[in-house]
Amino acid sequence: MKALPRSRLDALIAEQEGLARVDRKTIEAIQLEKLNRLLAREKARGGFYRGLPERLDSLADLSTLPFTGEEDLARRAAGMLLCSQGEVRRVLSDATSGTTGTAKRVFYTEGDLENTVRLYTAGLGELIFPGGVTMICFPFSGPFGLGELIAEAVRRLGARPLKLGSALSYGEYREALERERPDTFVGMPVQLLSLLRVCGRGSLQRALVSGDACPGSVIRACEALLGSQLFPHYGSREMGMAGAITCRAHAGMHLRENHVIAEIVDERGVPLPPGEYGELVITTVGMEALPLIRYRTGDYTRILPGPCPCGSETLRLDTVRRRPSGPDVTVLDDAAFAFEGLIDCRYTLSGGILQVEALTRGDTDEAALAQRLRGVSDGHGVSVRSAPVHSEDRSLYAGKRCILR
Ligand SMILES: [Zn+2]
Repeated sequence: MKALPRSRLDALIAEQEGLARVDRKTIEAIQLEKLNRLLAREKARGGFYRGLPERLDSLADLSTLPFTGEEDLARRAAGMLLCSQGEVRRVLSDATSGTTGTAKRVFYTEGDLENTVRLYTAGLGELIFPGGVTMICFPFSGPFGLGELIAEAVRRLGARPLKLGSALSYGEYREALERERPDTFVGMPVQLLSLLRVCGRGSLQRALVSGDACPGSVIRACEALLGSQLFPHYGSREMGMAGAITCRAHAGMHLRENHVIAEIVDERGVPLPPGEYGELVITTVGMEALPLIRYRTGDYTRILPGPCPCGSETLRLDTVRRRPSGPDVTVLDDAAFAFEGLIDCRYTLSGGILQVEALTRGDTDEAALAQRLRGVSDGHGVSVRSAPVHSEDRSLYAGKRCILR
């Protein structure tokens, strides 16, 4: 059997950090050094983290530091900036934040955005080949927007980006597929499945999915229609929209550990060993504009134990989803998309009833779908209303999938 190529992340880390070899020891040494540099800088400038110790003796001591939360990013992000306002190239801001009502803001320098593009280039390099065409179904919102950063990575790999964005109708996507013949897709998982179910088996060959949780039934259905395994990516705004990439072993997502230190903690905030599920906590020592120490992401996953079959010793994250509270959209999606005729659906919880609007190919049994969802709706009643899909329909969610309330 041919040996698997090592994750492209190893070569990227070696180049960025000037290393001959990327193993656990060197990675952890770099992490501790960067963390101590950050702590010393914060102390010297009287920054947001000035109350923390000036240095740590070991990475294990990280667990003695307090957490940073979403409220801090909403209320104090400007004070957390480690660069001058003039060096900020992009600011990302949420419309609202659940707890404070204030927008959560994250800042990036040119160096941060270059690191993002380089991680995308490493991740996409596993499935994009020179001369190919890649359809990008993330929003294009200006020069340093997500779509443009991905397009730049595609160009660096010698392929052509097809910049479609996330808001076209199924008919418009199908037209673009027929006209431009892209071989690769980059976008959200359910959006990929909807497209494949509308456009048919073989309409695309390979895909990198990101930006939302990826339920098991969605992965299996996408892979059957593509005829190849998916390359999931994980990123969040706090880590520059670029965090962890899948290698050809398809055994979890390799984390960019020269920039991000990951911990998994339980509900009480106690660190858990590899293999156990909990909340992902990140310390972004490689971010120039807005490094965070022990930021609670609200994302739920685990670190896969041991080295990857590809030989890389960088940490790998398992599938990531939001921390569940009440009915969980990922569990609902997992049950719903097992129905082959389902193109998309949207959930609204109102008056104790989970209302489901479904777009179908016409061969979906509404009652069977409702019954299946009732089993995973956390005790809520379920009512399904379905309509056949038309070419002018588009995704029922503009962004991440959720239960509307
Ligand atoms: Zn690997």
